Amino acid sequence: MTDADRAADLTRLCRTCGVCCNGVMFAYVEVEKSEMRADTRRRLHVLEAENRFTLPCCEHGPEGCQVYDDRPSICRSYTCALYDEYKETGEELDRKLMRVERIKQLVATIRARRRGAADHEWLPRAISEMLAVGKPTDVERELLLDVAELAMRLQRDIGWSPKPIEKAPEPGD
Ligand code: SF4
Ligand code: SF4
Repeated sequence: MTDADRAADLTRLCRTCGVCCNGVMFAYVEVEKSEMRADTRRRLHVLEAENRFTLPCCEHGPEGCQVYDDRPSICRSYTCALYDEYKETGEELDRKLMRVERIKQLVATIRARRRGAADHEWLPRAISEMLAVGKPTDVERELLLDVAELAMRLQRDIGWSPKPIEKAPEPGD
């Protein structure tokens, strides 16, 4: 396999996946003040005062990043465990593509059932709720199973773990 072939495969993997752009793993992307053209910053809805934009990224389309040539530096440099493994070994692309398809399928199913939850916090909150369940018969078992499978796959395949939701302060704290 040539370096060009491997690079093309990696592009295909990320175009198929997009999980690091769609708000499942991260809440926002930090940007440098001087990077990107003004029109790209507008398209990404960069909050200039905070130097960041929120995810899911509005420029993540069916074919991947729609501002690819002018994407932020953090987007250029980020790689996940799945990406790194293929870059290193060049093995089992089809299996990796199947893994990201399953992750996307789970995300779509869970999101459809949790309409109204903020995109950037729904997964950690769903996991917190799941872990806090005392009587499984009181909850929707299928949803909890999907959340558990998604969390496991994100951890195993992508190398990501959910951050715990911070407890709201009690009155008087
Ligand atoms: S999570 Fe990994 S494979 Fe998926 S788009 Fe991001 S870098 Fe690519
Ligand atoms: S700018 Fe492109 S690479 Fe960065 S989060 Fe948006 S879609 Fe993903």
